[in-house]
Amino acid sequence: MRIGLDIDDTICQTTEMVHEVIEKYASKLNLNPLDIMNDDFLRDEFYDNNSAEIFKNVIIKKEVKDIFRRLNNKGNKIFIITSRKKEYESITRAWFEKEGLEVEEMIFSVYGEDKAKTCQEKHIDLMIEDNPYNYKKIKEAGIHCILYDDRGKYDLKQDYYTTWKDIEDYIERNH
Ligand SMILES: [Mg+2]
Repeated sequence: MRIGLDIDDTICQTTEMVHEVIEKYASKLNLNPLDIMNDDFLRDEFYDNNSAEIFKNVIIKKEVKDIFRRLNNKGNKIFIITSRKKEYESITRAWFEKEGLEVEEMIFSVYGEDKAKTCQEKHIDLMIEDNPYNYKKIKEAGIHCILYDDRGKYDLKQDYYTTWKDIEDYIERNH
């Protein structure tokens, strides 16, 4: 099976890391984190200044390492399809190496329709994504996609999983 995976908030705890970093950043500027998040300029500036640190130190989600190994051992091919900008490719690759995650290929800077198009081009059998907009676009492109949400953000009735173990069982059943 050719499995497509999102990175942020799908295999690692990006939102948690953003919260941690923005708290420090905001207090240095004598601002409230919400002042930054609600202002386009300040928010962009925050991400420009801090994304490298966030991507370097982000915590991998529980179970992901073992599941990656098992999926690879069973002959699946894992494609990372992310909206992270190309400039973060080397930091991202170093993080995957540090975590011991083996992938077939990584595709950067794709979001929404471009992400869906990439899934088509790479003949992805199943895409796993936490972003409902991407999920919608990928489904519309005729690619099988499941939405991963371990924080109860969404309320989708189908294609919806809240643990990595459930996703692994699903892949097992549909292999
Ligand atoms: Mg994501």
